[in-house]
Amino acid sequence: MDHSPLFLAKSLLRCPSVTPEEGGALSLIEGVLKAAGFEVHRPVFSEPGTQDVENLYARYGTRKPYLLFAGHTDVVPPGDPSRWRHDPFSAEIEDGELYGRGAVDMKGGIACMMAAALEFIRENPDFGGSIGFLITGDEEGPAINGTAKLLEWAKGRGERFDHCILGEPTNPNQLGDMIKIGRRGSLTGRIVVEGKQGHVAYPHLADNPIPGMLRLLEGLLRDPLDHGTDHFDASNLEVTTVDVGNPASNVIPAEARATFNIRFNDLWTPESLEAEISRRLSEAAGNGIRYTLRMEPTNAIAFLTPPNEFVGFIADAVEAETGLRPKLSTTGGTSDARFIVKDCPVVEFGLVGQTMHQIDERVAVEDLDRLAAIYRKVLNAYFAPAS
Ligand SMILES: [Zn+2]
Repeated sequence: MDHSPLFLAKSLLRCPSVTPEEGGALSLIEGVLKAAGFEVHRPVFSEPGTQDVENLYARYGTRKPYLLFAGHTDVVPPGDPSRWRHDPFSAEIEDGELYGRGAVDMKGGIACMMAAALEFIRENPDFGGSIGFLITGDEEGPAINGTAKLLEWAKGRGERFDHCILGEPTNPNQLGDMIKIGRRGSLTGRIVVEGKQGHVAYPHLADNPIPGMLRLLEGLLRDPLDHGTDHFDASNLEVTTVDVGNPASNVIPAEARATFNIRFNDLWTPESLEAEISRRLSEAAGNGIRYTLRMEPTNAIAFLTPPNEFVGFIADAVEAETGLRPKLSTTGGTSDARFIVKDCPVVEFGLVGQTMHQIDERVAVEDLDRLAAIYRKVLNAYFAPAS
């Protein structure tokens, strides 16, 4: 079988693996990796209220160090296929670009990881370490039967990883722009201010919750949470909605609700943030405002893989291949790296994210070859015999 990144990417793109469908994608990876000598497992995870999801874990070698490649084969729905320039699951190439749902997020990335690993193993069958693949089918969906459970499952088998590369599309504009060495956490909270409904002409018989809500939000927003760190922007609290659900102009509403979301850096944990939010609200409320605060549970903590030798391997490989020194960034939304970082340092580097989740998602064929070459250089550096 052809093990070029382009061939692997085309084969994966033709698998209609919209979450939670496997679509043939994991079977394809299983076949290729098994033929190359990997031990492959296909755990299926379940949870009441969610659909079962298939996952894949593969390992070549038994020695350390153990470098893990992680990613997902599931994709977001393509929307109306007729709005695509080429069918979203046909993997057509036009003007040097490969079209298809998942081209950059992230079947293209997986194809490059596989191509690099297979070539490295072919040329160094007895390299002194292990290479693994941790591939989930539940990243774009609820992310319940995916990476978190797969890591637990692997831990139960005694697997211990030393470092991980997650192949999400990290480059904003061109290959080589950006490596992600951490992510911000995410925390959502809801505030309800209680009042008493009444006629606007008789306000003394009612208690309008809106002024109280305004005071609470003002108290929340007045001071910045922090001023950022060497590697993180300042944490940000964004009020996402304020609702009273009142269609009438002559009624004082009974209650007001607001929701906010905080993207926070590694100066905070969800617990310390909740304490700070509670403090700000109770200060703003004084004795006059009756309100409740409810924070939603979150597994999106902030984390950082401090720039070290491993990050250096990747940055050097990127620079050698692209001529660009990648920015070490912690921007963007959450990713499965938040689960992996509990087990080993994780760095994210993949394709150019510009068209991800969009109609006509596509990747430059040239970028596939270059990303595979970057991963290949990382493998060379990572497993270079100590001299
Ligand atoms: Zn993704």
